[in-house]
Amino acid sequence: MNEQATTAASNTSRMIEMRGLNKWYGDFHVLRDIYLEVERGERIVICGPSGSGKSTLIRCINHLEEFQKGDLTVGRLPMTRDIKRIEQIRRQVGMVFQHFNLFPHLTVLENCCISPIWVQKKPRQEAEAQAMQYLERVQIAEQALKYPGQLSGGQQQRVAIARSLCMHPDVMLFDEPTSALDPEMIKEVLDVMVELAHEGMTMLCVTHEMGFAKTVADRVIFMDQGQIIEENAPDRFFSDPQSERTQLFLSQIL
Ligand code: ADP
Ligand code: MG
Repeated sequence: MNEQATTAASNTSRMIEMRGLNKWYGDFHVLRDIYLEVERGERIVICGPSGSGKSTLIRCINHLEEFQKGDLTVGRLPMTRDIKRIEQIRRQVGMVFQHFNLFPHLTVLENCCISPIWVQKKPRQEAEAQAMQYLERVQIAEQALKYPGQLSGGQQQRVAIARSLCMHPDVMLFDEPTSALDPEMIKEVLDVMVELAHEGMTMLCVTHEMGFAKTVADRVIFMDQGQIIEENAPDRFFSDPQSERTQLFLSQIL
């Protein structure tokens, strides 16, 4: 296969596959028989009531949580408990959390350079130049020498996105990235996410921002009590929800 053909093949390949995933926290059955396939370039929005297992589900993808039953593959690599495999998978996956999770004692620039330097062994100068490029993309380059605590929540979240992008992930996971933000800052973060989506990034976003779902999602997934209850293209999902639980949920948030 020539290089172009290889790229074409990988562009259409599966990014994430969950088959019969089950997880328990002690006795509590938190994920129940999850089947989920995500193609490269797909944008998935996951919604559902608090406690339904959304965070747990996406945290399994980079092994922040372990599951007990079923299979998970990320970029064709089966998840195992082998630390080398976990690291291989984590290199493909970027994650953005509700509470930013920046290193408070490092500047914005250092936050974006630390993994490229220590994990990817990039020369510092190269790592810094790349970090500045991504910080410019999220329009925050002028804050590069500040500490996270000196920035607003919206600015910190944009730094968190830039920091993830510096590792060139194949897929980005977002866990309620705008839930901790004041209303006037939500848009600046969503704008960055919309741009990423338009650039073709594979994205799994736990969010209740239904405007975002309508704009960019290929599929919306509704979870309740550890199960995927319903999934559909956004227009169908919002206009014609099939299950009573989905209807109730939508009536509460829309
Ligand atoms: P969501 O993100 O949809 O709000 P979570 O995945 O965070 O849901 O949690 C699902 C359920 O699992 C909740 O009932 C929560 O209390 C429980 N849970 C989450 N993390 C833990 C944990 N580390 N230990 C025990 N129970 C947990
Ligand atoms: Mg959650």
